[in-house]
Order: sequence, then C-alpha cells, then structure tokens
Amino acid sequence: MNIEDRLLTINPYSRSGEKQNKIQYIVVHWVGNANTSALANKNYFDNLKNTHKTSASSHYIIGLNGEIIRCIPENEVAFHSGSYSRNRNSIGIENCHPDWNGQFNSNTYNSLVELCADICKRYGLGINNIIRHYDVTGKSCPKYYVENPNAWVQFKNDVANKLGQATTTVVSPNDIKGSDEPVRIYKNGSTKEYIYSDTNLTKQIGYLSPYEQCDCFGIFNGRPMVRYKVDGTSNYKIGFAKWTGGVK
Ligand SMILES: [Zn+2]
Repeated sequence: MNIEDRLLTINPYSRSGEKQNKIQYIVVHWVGNANTSALANKNYFDNLKNTHKTSASSHYIIGLNGEIIRCIPENEVAFHSGSYSRNRNSIGIENCHPDWNGQFNSNTYNSLVELCADICKRYGLGINNIIRHYDVTGKSCPKYYVENPNAWVQFKNDVANKLGQATTTVVSPNDIKGSDEPVRIYKNGSTKEYIYSDTNLTKQIGYLSPYEQCDCFGIFNGRPMVRYKVDGTSNYKIGFAKWTGGVK
C-alpha cells in the first residue's frame, strides 16, 4: 500500500493540530463531488484557510486511481464526522467516485479495503468499528453505501476477510447512531456579541443578537469557532466569538 503525504498547513478551518483521543472508529465518506481527484479535494480542504467557507477535512483521501493521500497525521483531529466527540476518536477517510450514484470504482474500493484493514490492525479494531458518516449524524454519506446497506455489509466483510476476522450481517452497531450531538452549540447571553475573523479579535465581521444560538466547531486559542447568520439572512459565515462561556 502506497500512501502519499500531502499534509495540510495548520489552520483552524481544516487542520487545528489538536491531538486525538484514543482511536476507536474509522469513518468512511464519499467526497460528494463526482469525478473529482483526490488532489483537488485535498486542495479544497487546504484552501479553507483562505475561503473560510466551512470547517472540513479528513485524514485520508482515496482517488479514482486508488491513490491514497494523507492530509492529516492520524494523531491529530480532522473535521469530518459532524460530531466533535466522534472526530476526536476516529480516523476519517474520504473517497472519490466517478458519478453521482456514489459507488466507488474498484481502484478506490480496493485501496479503501486495504487502508481500513491496516488501520484496524494497528489500533486493534474490528470491522464493527468501521462506520459510515451516516451512522454518526444521519447524513447521506457515503451515499451509495447508505442507499445500499448490503453493499456496506459486503465492504465490511471484504475488510474482515483481509484481516482474517469473522464476517458480519450487521449494517451498523446499535450504540452508534445518534449517540452524540452533530456539533456543539453556542448560546449567546443577554447582550449583542461581536464575531471576529481571527482568534486575536483584530477584525469584527459580524455579531450575534441577544440569546441567538448557532453551531460551534470547537475552541481555538481560547476562542469558540462559530457558524453565524449574517444579519438574520439565511447566509452563513464562520468566525470567532470572544468568550467560551456560551459553548454548550
Ligand atoms: Zn461524510
């Protein structure tokens, strides 16, 4: 198995540098963008430090030729599962796909089987520790393997065969789905609070109204990173609040 290191630069939007807890899961994703390359998706993650569009990343991306790119070292957190606590104890793998039905081609699939088996071996995990993004938050990801549960069971069994473990008929273990919040919540207090573009609070870019509530993706340099609504519209931006007291 050949892994190419193309590590993201450290930045709050895709590679915070925060250390992982004990690895307990592998979370499998589709990139959700038909016929794009692993490198293009890696560049998308890296450019979030400039575009500030969202907060997203994964440890690995597997391309249409079966190439495996490492974006983030396994001992650092990546932003892939939509759950802060799950991100802290899992390794995320994004997979490219030729079209919008989302099935992985055989190159991608075979590399994914190999990579999952390798990770399971190194952390002492079994195939029931391999889960879909769907199993964490209910998001339709990886789409084909959500819509075709038998294909997902087959995938886990292909990994089991590689590991010499018993196969399964279980689509996802019961204790996983809905086991925690997608992201943390930030609840503003009784006064208007400004949102800043950076953790040094040098530039105001928006505000939260009294008692306004929004999603929080974690705390960086002591500042909560939040997704806030721009002036009550349905347009969202990402920024930093001043105080951590509102993080629930
Ligand atoms: Zn996903």
